[in-house]
Amino acid sequence: MAKLGTLQIVSNARRNGLAIPAFNVPYLPMVEPVVRAVADQDSFALIATARPEWIKFQARGPAAVMAECARWSDPDHFRPHLDHVPVIDEDGFQVDYVPIFEEALEVGYESVMIDGSRLPLDENIAATRLVCEMAHAAGAACEGELGAVLGHEAGPLPPYEELFASGRGFTDVEEARRFVQETGCDWLSVAVGNIHGAVAEGLRDKQKVAARLNIEHLAHIEQATAIPLVLHGGSGIQQDFILQGVKHGIAKINIGTDIRQAYERALTETGAITAAKDAVYDRTCWILRHYLNMAGARRVLTAPA
Ligand SMILES: [Zn+2]
Repeated sequence: MAKLGTLQIVSNARRNGLAIPAFNVPYLPMVEPVVRAVADQDSFALIATARPEWIKFQARGPAAVMAECARWSDPDHFRPHLDHVPVIDEDGFQVDYVPIFEEALEVGYESVMIDGSRLPLDENIAATRLVCEMAHAAGAACEGELGAVLGHEAGPLPPYEELFASGRGFTDVEEARRFVQETGCDWLSVAVGNIHGAVAEGLRDKQKVAARLNIEHLAHIEQATAIPLVLHGGSGIQQDFILQGVKHGIAKINIGTDIRQAYERALTETGAITAAKDAVYDRTCWILRHYLNMAGARRVLTAPA
């Protein structure tokens, strides 16, 4: 039997009230322990690489991450995913994004994300539509982002409570409806109180704030879009909000900071990659089992619809 594509697996997650974690791997040795944890928990995950992770960390690029994933290939438990390729990057520079997608689709990514969220709406729609067409032509799924999931930028964040109360940067419901219709995107990354962990030098090892989610606002977006929604900045969100979010359309949750900091901390303390990998394994098991309640979910997720 042919293996199910990532698109169908994420749809299965949504239908079953589950959310698939996408684990970001800014260091290539993180791939093996994440894959081992997912298999040992009999769960399913995406292994994700984002442009900031090959510009600011050591992931090296989409082809390098794909090659590392291929060493541990286990399609029943994980697939590689290309996360954030921004049109305007976190430092305000224009990115030549088309060749990055060409390369990623060429080396076999089944799902990709174009992040036009720093653009005006019409330009975000145009860029996202273009990449969706490229992805679909290659048989891959495409994720877009609307709203501002802050945190990757170098400057200090506004105080979290202020941000949450004002709803500044939150995905607008009517814009989301239009965005999904006009781009043809398969999944939508939303901003509803979630924030990214910092990637800037000097900020990246700080503890993240315990973010919350505006569930009512999320429910409106779910109704308006009717496609699987994606929660970026999944590390450190209060668990109640995660579980409620999953009931309101969140079918994919990006987890980066949590396992990255586990890796970096263990590496700094011991100087040993094996210890750093063990720390990632333990943390990934904990996230799957106790944070996302995704242990044992593989059978449901990869069953034909
Ligand atoms: Zn993100």
